[in-house]
Amino acid sequence: MKLTIIGGGPGGYETALKAAERGLEVTLISSGPLGGTCLNEGCIPTKALRRSADVADLVAGAAGFGVEASAGGVDLPRVMARKEEIVGQLRGGIEFLLKKAKVNVLSGKASFVDARTVRVALQDGGEATVTSDAIFVATGSVSASLPIPGAEFAVDSTALLSADAIPHRLCVIGAGVIGLEFASIFRSFGSEVTVLEYCKEILPRFDTDLSKRLKQSLSRKGISIDTSASVQGIAREADGSFKVSYIKKDQPQEVLADKVLMAVGRRPALGSLNFEDIGIETGKRGVVVDKDFQTSVPGIYAFGDIIGGYMLAHVATFQGLHALNHLTGVEDGIDFGIVPAAVFTSPEAATVGLSEDECKEKGIPVECLKSQFRANGKALTMGETDGFIKVVASEEDGRLLGCHLFGPHAADLIHEMAALIARRTTLAEFRDLIHAHPTLSEALMV
Ligand code: NAD
Repeated sequence: MKLTIIGGGPGGYETALKAAERGLEVTLISSGPLGGTCLNEGCIPTKALRRSADVADLVAGAAGFGVEASAGGVDLPRVMARKEEIVGQLRGGIEFLLKKAKVNVLSGKASFVDARTVRVALQDGGEATVTSDAIFVATGSVSASLPIPGAEFAVDSTALLSADAIPHRLCVIGAGVIGLEFASIFRSFGSEVTVLEYCKEILPRFDTDLSKRLKQSLSRKGISIDTSASVQGIAREADGSFKVSYIKKDQPQEVLADKVLMAVGRRPALGSLNFEDIGIETGKRGVVVDKDFQTSVPGIYAFGDIIGGYMLAHVATFQGLHALNHLTGVEDGIDFGIVPAAVFTSPEAATVGLSEDECKEKGIPVECLKSQFRANGKALTMGETDGFIKVVASEEDGRLLGCHLFGPHAADLIHEMAALIARRTTLAEFRDLIHAHPTLSEALMV
């Protein structure tokens, strides 16, 4: 069977590798660098910056550990060079794997000719036509902006990832995942950071308890966060800095900044392909798909950011796997209702399953158990005691329904709870599981 995959991000290339492993003849078309948003301008580069930021924090706090260290400041060009090296290494790894799997990789922009044929305007100036039995589309998303005067003065996360200087004052519009990760990194780098969020809480899609407490934690680190803030415009000042105007409780307010980051969400890249020409239905959320990620045109599947929703790399990968399974008649048990997600602030935050608010909305009676990292021996020895854990369990049968936490290694800790929720474990069964001492995982034992 011949399969064409359009999009070289974690949805596209991972699925290409799996399809080739199963014996399909695969062509992967990508207009951007392999690895997509995640590798080139998202997950990986931000985590590289986060690590440099952690080192800066450690050095600054070294005396508290009884270690003499003097910080000479953050050398941003070297931080960026390290980030580029990591990205380059991983991209090389993907190229190697695709070559080894004999995936035919075409660099260029694809467009549909018909439901089985794709034309590619190759980057080297040539053209190619690819015909296959099925087509997978995973062409991702683009940064959204606000329709406000002066929006062009703000940069998006991609531009900030190649900043050549640390802004003295950074204003971040949007306290979602991207906004908070960058706010946290640049605060550690020494910037004065102000975050403006339209909703009542930061991370509006997360458990409210978690959002409130994480906000307090980030504020303690010196990040100024203003919620219920409706941004009206950005103006350039005579000295080259920017004034961000917003309204809070009917009162006009303003923030002065040297750099403004627009982080108000991402939208499916619907302009990436001529979907309408061959009758693929699209909607407000993105390309419309059924439960198996098949579009309105049989044999054409779409997954990842292009269909909207979670917009997470790991979700795109598993959606692609499910589409491949459906195409090749393989049964799987992937549960798209149980998706762990992490925010790489300092400290990290993570979530899986239902929040208390969602249970309330759905009328599910729940018991919520909470604990703190400050009571955990390992966290104390690490000097990272700021953190909170909330476990949501059904009042009816004790089943674990959700877990929401922030604190050291929250992004890794969440997976134990994801596994237990997926296996329909009860709180009592969880409490019978021996956890090693002294570990951060013990903090989960609410
Ligand atoms: P988001 O939807 O997570 O957050 C956008 C934020 O902007 C929201 O809090 C929203 O209320 C706020 N906002 C909207 N309009 C506003 C306005 N007028 N003024 C002030 N605030 C406003 O989007 P994002 O942070 O841009 O991230 C995009 C996608 O990428 C998300 O789906 C996210 O999950 C994903 N992502 C994930 C990770 C990760 O997994 N660690 C990292 C980065 C991005």
